[in-house]
Amino acid sequence: VRRAAAARALRGGGAGAPRAASGAAAAQLRRRLESELQEIRGAGTWKSERVIASRQGPHLRLAGGGAGIINFCANNYLGLSSHPEVIRAAVEALEKFGAGLSSVRFICGTQSIHKDLEEKIACFHQREDAILYASCFDANAGIFEALLTPEDAVLSDELNHASIIDGIRLCKANKYRYKHMDMQDLEAKLKEAQKHRLRLVATDGAFSMDGDIAPLREICQLAQKYDALVFIDECHATGFLGPNGRGTDELLGVMDKVTIVNSTLGKALGGAAGGYTTGPKPLIDLLRQRSRPYLFSNSLPPAVVGCASKALDLLMESNAIAQSMAAKTQRFRSKMTAAGFTISGKDHPICPVMLGDARLASVMAEDMLNRGIYVIGFSYPVVPKGKARIRVQISAVHSDEDIDRCVDAFTEVGRKHGALS
Ligand code: PLP
Repeated sequence: VRRAAAARALRGGGAGAPRAASGAAAAQLRRRLESELQEIRGAGTWKSERVIASRQGPHLRLAGGGAGIINFCANNYLGLSSHPEVIRAAVEALEKFGAGLSSVRFICGTQSIHKDLEEKIACFHQREDAILYASCFDANAGIFEALLTPEDAVLSDELNHASIIDGIRLCKANKYRYKHMDMQDLEAKLKEAQKHRLRLVATDGAFSMDGDIAPLREICQLAQKYDALVFIDECHATGFLGPNGRGTDELLGVMDKVTIVNSTLGKALGGAAGGYTTGPKPLIDLLRQRSRPYLFSNSLPPAVVGCASKALDLLMESNAIAQSMAAKTQRFRSKMTAAGFTISGKDHPICPVMLGDARLASVMAEDMLNRGIYVIGFSYPVVPKGKARIRVQISAVHSDEDIDRCVDAFTEVGRKHGALS
């Protein structure tokens, strides 16, 4: 109601009613778009957005009512999105450095806080240097084209994130796609790719749909054998996987074997926005010269830089938050398994509750919300046909009671809909 009133006030204030573009082309476009939208609805793959009326956190208020909802579907793995020190750091950066730079980095968009954050990221990952982007999507869109030429090859896991797939599409290297986490297939593709000047194996560190972790030890061994570089996307690992939260490479003991790490500031590291590449200094130097999303897009706003910088400080001071998230994950996974559910992946806070049937996933997720638990069902085309699931994400700031309430609700709803006997 308040949004509708605000929209009316805006129009009354001179913005005017929306105007439909006239002309045959505009009318034809409208018809085509409406028919495409209808197709999406008909296919049952329409994504609607629930509107949150509170801060991001373990407990939410939804617009139009629902208060005290327990949230199990954010990438807020460490609960830093609304951490008081993270918010304070953002406010201080906003006060001191302003709302934004109105510029790209190389024209007049680099402040001391951008350089400090890049240094902090490189130090956190124990790499030589780092470069910031507006998002990890941009970091992935920019790296392959800048690094690889038609003389080179890139070998990509078939289930890599869309942004890696798009980044690879933009480059002119020879492209090989290996079966998901299949080391025999990767080896076969590496053999085939020996004819190229340089080989880059690209994989998500942790895969966000299944909560499974790339076999980085084996990938690095193969990379060594066939003289290849390794790139990992650590969006679902940075801050919490490994003894000190450095990521999948720390977890699997290969920090010195992975050459390039891309990750996000928009999930565990404060959740505001932003992404980065960290790795060898000449690579970072080259990205500053050649990477298009870096060269042609605005600098990260100071408040966003402030959030991420404080999040990294908190993680470098202590690994207690990351450890607490691991304990919560273990509690959820073991209780759900004991209740009779199948949870995909291992030891990762992404806990996909495998249901198979798309309708079942959707009605169960709806019923979970009726019981105050916010989870989301995923079905085809986001995941393969017949592998529909409800994805639960655990955060360090869930209490044991939150987790137990979620398990109890799943058990009740699962029995009601026949997912549990
Ligand atoms: N890579 C992976 C594996 C992701 O899950 C995401 C976000 O969904 C991204 C990249 C993009 O990150 P950002 O939100 O910073 O653009």
